[in-house]
Amino acid sequence: MAMGVIGGGRTEAIMREIASLRAQRDELDSRIRFLESQLRVGAAPTTLPPSLHAAARGGGGLSPDMVRRYSHQLLLPDFGVQGQRRLSRSSVLVVGAGGLGSAVALYLAACGVGSLGIVDGDDVELGNLHRQVVHAEAYVGQPKVKSAAAACRAINSSINVLEHHLKLKPKNALDVVRQYDIVVDATNSLASRYMLSDCCVLLNKPLISGSTTGLEGQLTVYKHNGSPCYRCHFPNPTACQSGSANCTLGVVPGVIGCLQALETIKVATRVGEPLCGRMLHFDALSSSFKTVNKIHQRSSTCTVCGDNSNLTQDAFVMFDYDSFAQSTKSSKPTAIQNPLPKNARITCREYKRVLDSGRAHLLLDVRPVHHFQIASIANSVNIPLHELQERLPRLRDALSEVADVSHGNHRPLYFVCQSGDDSVAAVGILRENGFPYASAIAGGLECWAREVDPGFPVYW
Ligand SMILES: [Zn+2]
Repeated sequence: MAMGVIGGGRTEAIMREIASLRAQRDELDSRIRFLESQLRVGAAPTTLPPSLHAAARGGGGLSPDMVRRYSHQLLLPDFGVQGQRRLSRSSVLVVGAGGLGSAVALYLAACGVGSLGIVDGDDVELGNLHRQVVHAEAYVGQPKVKSAAAACRAINSSINVLEHHLKLKPKNALDVVRQYDIVVDATNSLASRYMLSDCCVLLNKPLISGSTTGLEGQLTVYKHNGSPCYRCHFPNPTACQSGSANCTLGVVPGVIGCLQALETIKVATRVGEPLCGRMLHFDALSSSFKTVNKIHQRSSTCTVCGDNSNLTQDAFVMFDYDSFAQSTKSSKPTAIQNPLPKNARITCREYKRVLDSGRAHLLLDVRPVHHFQIASIANSVNIPLHELQERLPRLRDALSEVADVSHGNHRPLYFVCQSGDDSVAAVGILRENGFPYASAIAGGLECWAREVDPGFPVYW
């Protein structure tokens, strides 16, 4: 049947099934390559005496396949056979199969780390693919660990790749982390950063920590060769520690993830000087790297790794890291502190009825300009929240005009934002300046996309 005569929904279903079958085929191919490589490694020529067979494997105990695969690393004088052997005996846990974890996992698999564990509880989404390069379109909707593990096995079928399809929490972190020699924090989450650091102190594991915010990134190595833990550096969360992990160019977490892989290799092989007690900063816009030496020594008063630390594994399991990470976030005024009357809000569905009725009104969208340019409700006008106050005088005429042509007592002016908070703040500003007839659309565009217009482009 020609593609053109199949309905749109049916076509999508077929395309999804093809993608799924291709993914299964790739996994089977990967498994076959792995088994074949095992045959090659295990098959000694029967006519060769044991002594000659040992010689054929090379003095370093590396198989001919390993020598061929890793020759460009083996030729590095500082790395050599000893570095490769240490690497192949090491086990690394990569926590997070996102933007950072993609680069870390791919490079660690390629260079021949012995066991590579990957932890993630999420599924692959289309919006991940621009930066999470370990995942392919065929895996959209499937667990990230499955996708990342398949990609790593496809690169190197001779290593052991382990999938941990779960969100790492205090109650399961100790059991997972203790199986590995080295831990890589690729979560880009403040709560996870504290949790992994505490966990690694308790289990005495080196932690390769990387993070990105927008077009900047940073990197350091905790709990290795006497370096501090994360809490020595930041005893309590501050607003500046958190940022939007999702708003970035994919290359930025790629750069930091590559550097995390490099630090992991250095720690595993004891080659070079890992970033212990030093912090590397990367600024993508200026293309500059800066290393801050001696960010902090280990703090003797640290509540986790200090001289009088009282953190136990039982206390760790009970600790609420999510609440802790939220505890000192920015305290900007919210609707709770300045409550609006109930009639100053309108639901998405109620606003849809206003639209359908054709009643004259004005819809102001108070998101930042670059958000508005991505997607907006038809005929809405963009005035970013931070500009609202100063633009009010010029808005008065337009607002009065809309009010004049409106009839009855309905509200002629509506505000919308992404999630509903900023539009409430905007209504508050209007009311303080003599415009009591304004309403905020509750839940913002997130609610609009969910309940009214499923076709609205979701970018958050
Ligand atoms: Zn500490």
